[in-house]
Amino acid sequence: MNTKEKDLKYIMHTYGRYDVALKSANGATAYDEDGKKYIDVSSGIGVNSLGYCDRGWVKAVAEQAGTIQHMSNYFYCSRASNLAEKLCTLTGLSKVCFGNSGAEANECAIKIARKYSFDKYGAQRNEIITLRNSFHGRTVTTLAATGQDVFHNYFFPFTEGFKYVEADNLDSFKNAVSGKTCAVMLELIQGEGGLNILSREYVQSLVRYCNENDILVIIDEVQTGAGRTGRLFAFENYGITPDVITAAKGLGGGLPIGVCICGEKLKDVMTPSTHGTTFGANPVVCAGANYVVDKISDTEFLNEVETKGKYLQQKLSSIDGIKNIRRMGLMVGIELESADAHDIAVKCVENGLLIITAKALLRMLPPLTISYEEIDEAVKILEKTIKENN
Ligand SMILES: *Cc1c(COP(=O)(O)O)cnc(C)c1O
Repeated sequence: MNTKEKDLKYIMHTYGRYDVALKSANGATAYDEDGKKYIDVSSGIGVNSLGYCDRGWVKAVAEQAGTIQHMSNYFYCSRASNLAEKLCTLTGLSKVCFGNSGAEANECAIKIARKYSFDKYGAQRNEIITLRNSFHGRTVTTLAATGQDVFHNYFFPFTEGFKYVEADNLDSFKNAVSGKTCAVMLELIQGEGGLNILSREYVQSLVRYCNENDILVIIDEVQTGAGRTGRLFAFENYGITPDVITAAKGLGGGLPIGVCICGEKLKDVMTPSTHGTTFGANPVVCAGANYVVDKISDTEFLNEVETKGKYLQQKLSSIDGIKNIRRMGLMVGIELESADAHDIAVKCVENGLLIITAKALLRMLPPLTISYEEIDEAVKILEKTIKENN
């Protein structure tokens, strides 16, 4: 059996895969088992933030694997405490809780919000408002938090206590608020939901309203964090201070991590045995994340992310068949004039470009370190593919 046959026989079919088995890679360039070359502007859904096999990252991870590969959370770990210090210092927030994925980070944020409200107001104030078209994860609770009906199937009963409102509409939010509301959770750019970039005015007035009413503001930065938008975290582009942010995907540079970072008001809400996870704060993962954060928190590096994003957008805008481009940093959504985004993505892959979709859009989340030559190659393949499908 080849890789594909074995996969289909032995792995549960929860993903519709592209017809590619990747074997090796470097930067934003990957090779499949037959030696065919691809430019990767998906970076494992924004995970390989420094590209494939960044040498410094590999060294940091390999060294830690050969020193202590894991210890339980019953012991102090310098890799974790150093990473937590960096994240707090860089965000202006106060404390970190470590986990292994975006969904888990969001679960933690939901638990913190509910416990804060329970401690202060009692059990009845437990509702969390999220936005239509949001995506917050695949656990039963984060599916419930996700404001899309297609995700509310099969797995009943879902966790109670979520309400959905229209994005970029403050009245819709205010109408949903009641004495039971304890928090709002939102992405500043809805990634899976179709690259919807929330407006600055909406976000600022929402945060002001929530602050006045002691409604916690949780920003899901699982996709937008770790330098993706040209700032370490997207909330910095909005001039707000959230109560909680969650991050995952690109933060580890390719190893599983999820963090929930909270502000001063919440720093002592979680107490021993209210939360935990065996692999959280794993030293190998934290060694990789420390390396990533050191690299991407540099202002010059972040400015370069925006510069490359602009360059990419400019190149894309000259392609026939593209109707509109939505972008912040290197998070890019491409609206096509008539072609179906999924069809184009499949054909791009055949032509040597690894690209994903977000609803009806093509989505690019290239490694933040992608070279200008790789951008040029990617754009060329996309242009050719769209042309072939006209
Ligand atoms: C991917 C994603 C998640 C879920 O992260 P996992 O690591 O897959 O659990 C949550 N929120 C947003 C915004 C995401 O993009």
